[in-house]
Order: sequence, then C-alpha cells, then structure tokens
Amino acid sequence: MTVIHTSNPRETQEFAAKFASELNPGDVIAYIGGLGAGKTTFTRGLAQGLGIEEHVASPTFALLNEYRGGRLNLYHFDMYRVLDFESLCSTGFFDYLESDGVLAIEWSENIKDELPENTIYITLERDGSEESHRKITIDRR
Ligand code: ADP
Ligand code: MG
Repeated sequence: MTVIHTSNPRETQEFAAKFASELNPGDVIAYIGGLGAGKTTFTRGLAQGLGIEEHVASPTFALLNEYRGGRLNLYHFDMYRVLDFESLCSTGFFDYLESDGVLAIEWSENIKDELPENTIYITLERDGSEESHRKITIDRR
C-alpha cells in the first residue's frame, strides 16, 4: 500500500503521471472517492504519463472516453449511472477488460463485484481542513 499527500491538483496530476510508468497492459484502476475527490484530475496525469496528448475530460455523459496514441490505450469509465449488470455490459466493460489497454474507472463502487482480482484501488479523499489537500492511497490487493 502506498499513501501520498498532495497540496493542489497539479501535484496530484504530476504524481499520477509518474505512476503511469508502472502500468502494464491490461491493468485496471478502480477509483474510490466522491464528487470532486480528484479522480478525473488523476486520470489526466495518467494520460500525460502515458504520452497521450488529448485533453482528458470527465466521461460523465459518455460513460467511456477512449484515449489512444500513448504507450498504452487508456479507457476512462464513469460508472455513476451504471447501477445494474445489464448497463455495465452495454458500456463494453467486459470487452475492454480483455484488451491490452489500461482501464481507469470512476465510481467503481458501483461495479465492485465485477472488478478483477488484480485491480489497483486508488482512494482519493480530503486531507485535513485545507480545501486543496488530498490523501491518495494506492492499494494492489
Ligand atoms: P472527480 O473526478 O473525483 O469528481 P475532479 O478531478 O473532476 O474530481 O475534480 C477535483 C476538483 O478538486 C478540481 O476542481 C480540482 O481543481 C480540485 N482539487 C483541489 N485540490 C486538489 C488536489 N490536491 N488534487 C486533485 N484535485 C484537487
Ligand atoms: Mg470525475
């Protein structure tokens, strides 16, 4: 388990960009943390670290944004509205699991029973009283 503390979004993004160098084909990242925790910010850093130049936006309305052209393809999911197995299937989640890309999943709490055994859990939470401080815990269970 790794715990880091960041003081602003830039630090979160920079950490994520470095962390991206450790990622392997087929890795699954499951974020735990509510609205504004920093999940999309972290994913922006992952994309940067993978050498993806496209801007990473929240996949809230699309459910899935795909970023190609980096060291690994990045599949950025938002499971906020995915509340049953059928809607999970329709996102293509199980097909992407078989791919050689990296999955980064916001609101993974909603699909926790379907996450693979080697999932990397990244928890983001407020850290103390400063609005811009975050505690980030990385757990490869
Ligand atoms: P989520 O995807 O979890 O809803 P976002 O990454 O979209 O979160 O938004 C996080 C918000 O919190 C942004 O407005 C960002 O500027 C702000 N923020 C403040 N401090 C941090 C920090 N240390 N790390 C990440 N985001 C932070
Ligand atoms: Mg988000």
